[in-house]
Amino acid sequence: MTAKLLDGKQIASEIRGELTRDVAAFVERCGIRPTLVAILVGDFAPSEVYVRNKERACQQVGIRSQVHRRGPETSEPDLLHLIEQLNQDRDVHGILVQLPLPRQIRESRVLDAIAPLKDVDAFHPENVGLIAQGRPRYLPCTPHGISQLLHRAGIKTRGKHAVIVGRSDIVGKPMSLMLMNRNSSVGPDGANATVTVCHTQTADLASVTRRADLLIAAIGRPKFITAEMVKPGAVVVDVGINRIASGLVGDVDFEAVKEVAGYLTPVPGGVGPLTVTMLLYNTLEAARRQIGDAADSAALRDAG
Ligand code: NDP
Repeated sequence: MTAKLLDGKQIASEIRGELTRDVAAFVERCGIRPTLVAILVGDFAPSEVYVRNKERACQQVGIRSQVHRRGPETSEPDLLHLIEQLNQDRDVHGILVQLPLPRQIRESRVLDAIAPLKDVDAFHPENVGLIAQGRPRYLPCTPHGISQLLHRAGIKTRGKHAVIVGRSDIVGKPMSLMLMNRNSSVGPDGANATVTVCHTQTADLASVTRRADLLIAAIGRPKFITAEMVKPGAVVVDVGINRIASGLVGDVDFEAVKEVAGYLTPVPGGVGPLTVTMLLYNTLEAARRQIGDAADSAALRDAG
């Protein structure tokens, strides 16, 4: 078998086209341009690249973006002060703090300080709690991107056994909640899975992954998922981004797994482009919610 490729680039471009139209209609209706502020602390080179990509993506769909840069010695109180100013600024609709932060700053203190309505990464405990209760306000960008990718490729998750390898707060954990909920941003067919979450303490990992109809790898280990770990015909989503000598690879051994899986996301060009796209989606949604726009996105309102 040769797996069908799930083309994240193409689907992201389709969603960005829709967003461009939605942003223009919002600006016309409300006279306000959705605005995203990114905070970049320190001099971690990959973060520079991520923030630049986000700025470029904002421009593409008509969202205004600003970057606040702070040096590596920035203190936690200084950063909290900046966030408070942005929380109060009515012209700012979305705030994101690019991670990782320098060691002297506690990540949880900073993420908890972002006003929940401006929390376009959906990391604030209030937004995570709403997802856990099945009534999300915003969805975290990577899991939401995966939902969109599956939905737009015609893949349903209802009644399927989904196995997620990785339990991070950014990917694995929220993905598991979203798949287990009764409804999703793409309807009940994009939720209602039976979900198993694996991590470093999982016994006999391969025997678990081999039972997956949908296998999501969010591990951070190059080519970790081998062909023997995949059920023939399964849908395999590779979230991993690993830089090795030969270039960028995912958490899935692409060449081997594509002979077994039914569907497979490539790296790069799979989940990655969707992540940034859903950040744009959340920024428009945040602007709508903050001004009480009547066209409040129906997509998420009833996603419980
Ligand atoms: P984390 O490091 O926060 O979490 C990794 C998870 O994988 C942990 O739960 C860990 O288990 C589990 N894990 C690690 N090794 C093993 C193992 N040998 N067996 C079983 N489980 C294991 O990573 P993230 O979730 O933040 O990211 C995962 C990957 O996805 C990274 O490569 C990252 O770069 C990429 N990523 C890609 C995005 C995209 O847009 N495409 C967005 C976000 C991340 P334990 O909890 O026990 O330690």
